[in-house]
Amino acid sequence: MNPPARCLRVALPVPLPRVFDYLPPPGLEVDEGWVGCRVRVGFGRRELVGLVEAVAVSGGVPSESLKPVLERIDAKPLLPEELLATLRWVSGYYHAPLGEVLATALPADLRQGAPLPDTGRFAWALSEAGATGLERLRRGARPRQLAERLQAGAIAEDTLELEATPWREAMRSLQQRGLVVRQALQAVPAMPLEPGGVTLNGEQATAAQAIVEGLGRFHPVLLEGVTGSGKTEVYLDAIRACLAQGRQALVLVPEIGLTPQTLQRFERGLGIRVHALHSNLADGERARTWTAMARGEAQVVVGTRSAIFSPLPRPGLIVVDEEHDASYKQQDGVRYSARDLALVRARALSVPVVLGSATPSLESLAQAGRGLYRHLGLSQRAGAGRAPPVRVLDVRKRRLESGLSGDMLDAIAACLARGEQALVFRNRRGYAPVLLCHDCGWSAECPRCDARMTVHGRGRQLICHHCGARRRPPTACPDCGSLGLQPQGAGTERIEDALAERFPEANLVRVDRESTRQRDGLSRQLQKLGDGAGILVGTQMLAKGHDLARLSLVCVVGIDEGLFSADFRAPERLAQLLIQVSGRAGRAEVPGEVLLQTHHPEHPLLATLLQGGYPAFARLALEERELAGFPPFAHLALLRADAAQEAALQGFLNAARTCLEGPARDAAGRPGGQRIGILGPLPAPMPRRAGRVRAQLLVSSPSRPALQACLAEAVPRLYDLPQSRKVRWSIDVDPVDLY
Ligand code: ADP
Ligand code: ZN
Ligand code: ZN
Repeated sequence: MNPPARCLRVALPVPLPRVFDYLPPPGLEVDEGWVGCRVRVGFGRRELVGLVEAVAVSGGVPSESLKPVLERIDAKPLLPEELLATLRWVSGYYHAPLGEVLATALPADLRQGAPLPDTGRFAWALSEAGATGLERLRRGARPRQLAERLQAGAIAEDTLELEATPWREAMRSLQQRGLVVRQALQAVPAMPLEPGGVTLNGEQATAAQAIVEGLGRFHPVLLEGVTGSGKTEVYLDAIRACLAQGRQALVLVPEIGLTPQTLQRFERGLGIRVHALHSNLADGERARTWTAMARGEAQVVVGTRSAIFSPLPRPGLIVVDEEHDASYKQQDGVRYSARDLALVRARALSVPVVLGSATPSLESLAQAGRGLYRHLGLSQRAGAGRAPPVRVLDVRKRRLESGLSGDMLDAIAACLARGEQALVFRNRRGYAPVLLCHDCGWSAECPRCDARMTVHGRGRQLICHHCGARRRPPTACPDCGSLGLQPQGAGTERIEDALAERFPEANLVRVDRESTRQRDGLSRQLQKLGDGAGILVGTQMLAKGHDLARLSLVCVVGIDEGLFSADFRAPERLAQLLIQVSGRAGRAEVPGEVLLQTHHPEHPLLATLLQGGYPAFARLALEERELAGFPPFAHLALLRADAAQEAALQGFLNAARTCLEGPARDAAGRPGGQRIGILGPLPAPMPRRAGRVRAQLLVSSPSRPALQACLAEAVPRLYDLPQSRKVRWSIDVDPVDLY
């Protein structure tokens, strides 16, 4: 018999906790040069693209039984060593198969085996036919408009990309008619630096200097700056220093697709081209930006969560803006936290990492408190802005008009009369949260979820926000036949209606997921508002990122549900939201005011927040977390499962509990090991969703290593449980909610 073969260990995008052994194609040797390269392999009856993770000796399997790979895609490793090591870490820490981690980390085109794309800059110009043949195009239509712009000369793709309007489809239609041509551009022209620029104030300069001093080593910084304090200017200053050393910077932001503003601000401030990475980009564009990073051509990338997987061959600095934002945690598939990964990568790359926020997460504050992060503060608004005073409107026993009190409406009227803008914040989209029968108390529930359906379209439709089910509302109560069905409570739609009725002349703009559905919908809605008097109504989409110079009044309504939520993170979320929304007012010369309407003016959360601001709230909340044994004083993992049948669900979770109990005892028994608690099976907060029953196990420990050791042993066994076949399950390490 032949000795065990040297083979290629390939990570494949399949939901199995292992890698797969293959041989090289006939005639090729196994050597370290394969590691990090993509290969095409046969897997069952399919062909898959995977990544050679290591070369190894196949565990006792004779070479005859291994299949050769079908094709080697990359001649050189696709991933730098550090990135591959980080992805291995992600696979280990989040207990996700390496192949799935790779699939999450790579842009779609590359994951599917496409060659590395061209990364040069391209422009579009009219062809000879295009120079004369535009009359045949329909007047006013997009292709015609685009072609007319090209009459003044070629336009670069990145310039088009920066504008708010989609252009690719129109350009393709021109190309198909032979009216335009795509040209490679040679040099990258530098953009003009922001005229004058800003001079950093004392606190900003100190912060920027502290970051710059850390260049070249791992140096975590928590930059806690009140809203409008000029954190972005601090990032820009540090990035300039990093660019001056010829190094790359990676900036993570919560939702860039919605905010071309952010990108333009970075480009102007740095005077160079800044690349964007977010989910609104076409696949080809994502792959191009990724490749430009990998080749060191892109100097600065601003991107959302998955941009944390950008290759950084010349690493300089990582910034995580609004580090408290929940969107940094991926909520399906590989459930990584981009904020936490920023720290992991910064350490591996020996670079500073800046976590910036006006309302830092309690986790980051605790780390700073332990001296693990340098804690820097910006306590004042920069420039002309002033922090707005907050006035609480006690609305107990007051009549509300679609959720709005008389005092609030008066304040809005006064604001409009001054020619200024008001923001009305209500974190509930739709017309009304409930359709209720006034005679018997029946309410419209989703047939497939344990949830009420939301009234939409001014009462014409019921939509379930959890499974998307839609139906027409009944004309009479299905229980008692009464015709007295009434929408109860007010969502953004209803508030919009009420404001339109009260202020018929006012420029009124609504911002929520419905009204901003298309690409760049948010910018378009904000453009409608313009610079004159007007009212902006909307959900938490309005909480961040937009400077509206004329905005002087922020009205907060309907936050009371949030005061009594069961989730242990709900108070933190609410405090952050209130501070961030309030921070929208008074950002420029116009002074601002915040009105907070509530039935619970004495609630400790509100009282603390109003008296001592976010720092006071955070201190109190951390004490409570410590007493309750919640993060950051304990570490959690949540095993979620759902199934068609309750019995299958319980069967799986009970078996999973048994899998966890042994390793939990072992991990706790090791020297220095600490207790591991397993709670459940418990029904999920929403026990039935989209027709499936849901339950979970919560694993917790004061010691992260103990928890990790336990999961590392137990999770691979879950795949093999016979009970796992009738359920869908997932493991969520450091869950941001227990939903
Ligand atoms: P943050 O990100 O902390 O909310 P920004 O960086 O957006 O704050 O700054 C808020 C506003 O203040 C912006 O309009 C910015 O141009 C302005 N600004 C920031 N720093 C300065 C400064 N040192 N001098 C003048 N204006 C500044
Ligand atoms: Zn009824
Ligand atoms: Zn539903």
